[in-house]
Amino acid sequence: MARPLVADIDLKALRHNYRVASELAPTSANMAVIKADAYGHGAANCARALAEAGAPAFGVASLEEAIALRDAGISQPILLLEGIFDAGELARVEMLDLWQVVHSDWQLEALLAYRPARPLTVWLKLDSGMHRLGFTPEAFVVRWERLAAAGTQVATEGLHLISHFASADQARSVQFAAQWSTIEQVRDRLGCRICVANSPATLARPATHAAWNRPGVMLYGSNPLDGALPVGVSLDPVMTLRSRLIAVQTLEADEPVGYGGRFRTAGPSRIGIVAAGYGDGYDRHAVDGTPVLVDGVRAPLAGRVSMDMLTVDISHLPAAKVGSEVVLWGRSSTGSVLSVDEVATHCDTIGYTLLTGVLPRVPRRFLE
Ligand SMILES: *Cc1c(COP(=O)(O)O)cnc(C)c1O
Repeated sequence: MARPLVADIDLKALRHNYRVASELAPTSANMAVIKADAYGHGAANCARALAEAGAPAFGVASLEEAIALRDAGISQPILLLEGIFDAGELARVEMLDLWQVVHSDWQLEALLAYRPARPLTVWLKLDSGMHRLGFTPEAFVVRWERLAAAGTQVATEGLHLISHFASADQARSVQFAAQWSTIEQVRDRLGCRICVANSPATLARPATHAAWNRPGVMLYGSNPLDGALPVGVSLDPVMTLRSRLIAVQTLEADEPVGYGGRFRTAGPSRIGIVAAGYGDGYDRHAVDGTPVLVDGVRAPLAGRVSMDMLTVDISHLPAAKVGSEVVLWGRSSTGSVLSVDEVATHCDTIGYTLLTGVLPRVPRRFLE
C-alpha cells in the first residue's frame, strides 16, 4: 500500500462556492483568483471547474502561472495581478492574450513603448491606502489619462481601476472605510469602472461590488472574515487533507510523546501515529490540542509535528486502529467537517497559508 496521505480536491464544492460568490454579487463579473496553483488546489483542474460554474476570467500572480493555464487549454481572460516583472514579458502577454495590471511607472513606460498588433487590456492600480502596490490618487489620475489616450497600446474600453483592501475582513475597520472613500472619490472623478472586492468584501461589503470582483480564498471554502459568515451563506471545504493511522502506541501515565517530549500522557493513553507531517505542509506550529478527525471524530494533536508523521491522542476512541481514516482538515468519509480555518487558529496562522502550504509530495486527487 502506498503512503496514505492525499489531498482530495472536491470540484463540486469549488463550483458551489463560486456560485455563492455569484449570488452575493449577481450584477458583477466575478473573476476567480487562482494564483499560487489555486491556493494549493491545482490551478488547471480548478480553472476548468470554475469555468463550468460560470467564471468569466481568472487572476494569477505571474506570467508563468498564466502560461500553465493556457497550456492546459484555458481560453478565458487571465489577469496578471502584479502585471509584468520585466518589459521582455510584454510579447508573451500579447501572444497569450493576457490582461495586465500596471502598478508602477516603469511598467507604464514599457507598455507605452511597446507596439502591439492589437491594443492590450490594462487595469491601473490605485494605492487607496494599503501602501503595497499602485499609484496615489493624484498620480493615478495622471496615469489614467495617459493610458486612456494611448489607443495603440491600450484597449480603452477595457481600462479599469483596480485597488486592494488591507482590512475588509474586519467588521468595523476605520482603514477599510478610508480606503473605500478614496476609491469612490477617484472613481467619481474619472467615471471609471472598478474592481476592488476580494473575498471578504465579496462576502460582507456589498457596496464595493462593481463591474468586476475578484474573490479568492472563499472559493476554496475558507472564511476570511474575522467573524462568522453572513447569515444564509455557507461555503464547502474544497480540500480534504486525508491520511491514516499507521501505528498505535499504548502508553502508561506520564510518558512523553514525540520530539522534545512536549506532550506527556495524563493517564494511560492510546496515541495514534498519522502519516502526515511538516514535510507535507502540515504546520509545525500546531499546538497540543489542535483538532484532527479520526474516523470522523475529533481527537487532539499530542506532541510536536514531525517531518513525516504526527501524533494524536485517541484514548477516547477505542475502535480507532491502524488504518483508521484521519482528516487533517476538510470532510471525513462520515461527513464530519473540520475547517482549515479552525486548524489555522491553533497554528497561529490563517487558512490561506495552510492551503497554499501543502507541498508537492502530497498527491492531489480530483473528485467530480
Ligand atoms: C490574492 C488576491 C485577491 C484574492 O484575495 P482573497 O482574500 O483570497 O479573496 C484579490 N486581489 C488581489 C490583488 C490579490 O492578490
